[in-house]
Amino acid sequence: MSENFPDQISPINFARNGKSIQQTLAIREFERACSMLANESGNLTVKLLFTLDESNLPILCGSVEATLQLNCQRCMEPMDITIESPFNMALIVKEAEEETLPEEYEALLVDEKTFSLRDFIEDELILAIPVIANHAADQCGATQFLQDATELPSKERENPFQVLEQLKK
Ligand SMILES: [Zn+2]
Repeated sequence: MSENFPDQISPINFARNGKSIQQTLAIREFERACSMLANESGNLTVKLLFTLDESNLPILCGSVEATLQLNCQRCMEPMDITIESPFNMALIVKEAEEETLPEEYEALLVDEKTFSLRDFIEDELILAIPVIANHAADQCGATQFLQDATELPSKERENPFQVLEQLKK
């Protein structure tokens, strides 16, 4: 992990102190996410604000943004995918607290002693990676190939059976 980027933090404490973090990190630092990608190139930018809302609820809001490379499922060539994943979470320490949260928040169950900021960012990143990536039809090598094949003049597409018939004569 990049130097001076905190990993193990106390999220509730961060919220009480109004900590904000903005940092660009290399995608290759996130091994679980990398296993879903075409390669490890690129960076992600994470913006985080830990704070207390007007009713003193500890919250974490921000976003993970990245340009990643996924393999196109048609031509299997890598393609750029830009993701932006905003989040607005209430930090809770007991599951029961989830029931009383205002609707605008997602609940994030945290443990003050073992909260990994790195894992949180990686989870958000993984959720934002599309399951299937495809080039736009006019930009995909596979589409080009298919079009080329159908656009061949008919006499250049010899039917092997016709050739066989001619040989028999
Ligand atoms: Zn493609």
